[in-house]
Amino acid sequence: MDFNLSEEHLMIRDAAREFAQTELLPEVIERDNKQEFPQELVKKMGDLGFMGIMVDPKYGGSGMDAVSYVLIMEELSKIDASASVMVSVNNSLVCYGLEAFGTEEQKQKYLTKLATGESIGAFCLSEPEAGSDATSQKTTAIDQGDHYLLNGTKNWITNGGRSDFYLVIAQTDKEKGHRGINAFIIEKGMEGFHIGPKEDKLGIRGSDTHTLQFNDVKVPKENRIGDDGFGFKFAMKTLSGGRIGIAAQALGIASGAYELALKYSKERKAFGTEIANHQAIAFKLADMYTDIEAARMLVMKAAWDKDQGNNYDMSSAMAKLKASDVAMKHTVEAVQIHGGNGFVKEYHVERLMRDAKITQIYEGTSEIQKIVISRGVLRD
Ligand SMILES: Cc1cc2nc3c(=O)[nH]c(=O)nc-3n(C[C@H](O)[C@H](O)[C@H](O)COP(=O)(O)OP(=O)(O)OC[C@H]3O[C@@H](n4cnc5c(N)ncnc54)[C@H](O)[C@@H]3O)c2cc1C
Repeated sequence: MDFNLSEEHLMIRDAAREFAQTELLPEVIERDNKQEFPQELVKKMGDLGFMGIMVDPKYGGSGMDAVSYVLIMEELSKIDASASVMVSVNNSLVCYGLEAFGTEEQKQKYLTKLATGESIGAFCLSEPEAGSDATSQKTTAIDQGDHYLLNGTKNWITNGGRSDFYLVIAQTDKEKGHRGINAFIIEKGMEGFHIGPKEDKLGIRGSDTHTLQFNDVKVPKENRIGDDGFGFKFAMKTLSGGRIGIAAQALGIASGAYELALKYSKERKAFGTEIANHQAIAFKLADMYTDIEAARMLVMKAAWDKDQGNNYDMSSAMAKLKASDVAMKHTVEAVQIHGGNGFVKEYHVERLMRDAKITQIYEGTSEIQKIVISRGVLRD
């Protein structure tokens, strides 16, 4: 067992850290206020290979492993979790889904553009009445011979307004239940496809979240991913890897808040000494550091399982559950260590606290992770 990162991994982490410090940090507060993320930054992330981190270079990707993906996600998330969710969805839901289960034609047509950042992708599973219970799909895709006719509503879709390609899950045969669900590739601009207004959110405000509407959208047969009825399995397999990305995002939010709190505690004085010298503050830092290290071990283990070809359903669920709880708990503590300054935007920790909350909700709430983990425990 070797807990050291390789030279290559250290270089990748440093490149992501440098990018986050020089490109993401300067206007992160303005982006949070305005709820926007400029296209130039997406392009820069694409140029660095961050939009197709694990994709085979023959499809335009960077060909890196899941450990590298986690390192990049952590560094981006320390500074801007809105940037990192865009990276996570594009990488582990859209690119992975197409690379693992798409046809060669689908890979050439879509993956090559998504992996370089030339195009952006979205993953559309959630609906107004199908969140945690993703089998209750109301969106339908009815087989019309040479095409499917898609109708329905998807909500909470990350990259919803700015994507070029959308992986949409829909019910084809209601009689077959979850075995009658399929996944389709939808292109922006297809007739009958409408994008609703942007959500006004508590956190990850720079990310682009929309409701999508499909009214009699004609979807070519060749845009179905996998065999007929594979859609639910496709969504679950893809989300399993997505959870590694969100776990790494939570880890980054927690460690970003910790680093700020540590620095502040060595600068701010109260009762004639730096507040770090008060044991109540020093113990908070000790708890933060210990919990973050524990979360990091789980996140790295999940990434390592993926790289080894092991099943990672359980390890990704455990990593997400733990890292998101650590992010929520310790961003609150980071605000506390900053006192009144923690409550204003300039010091960044209030944003990290707001951003932390979503990691307990999307790609399966913490309760859903416990269902996955408990089923695994009881099966063994
Ligand atoms: C900012 C943001 C971005 C998102 N991005 C995407 C995206 O890109 N694509 C996408 O498809 N979705 C996306 N989502 C949707 C997200 O995945 C869902 O919100 C999430 O899965 C929860 O579903 P829900 O909101 O319907 O809550 P519900 O399923 O209604 O859950 C409500 C509460 O009940 C609990 N609960 C439900 N069932 C059980 C159970 N069996 N046992 C115990 N507790 C239970 C839940 O844990 C939760 O606490 C996003 C959401 C947000 C807010």
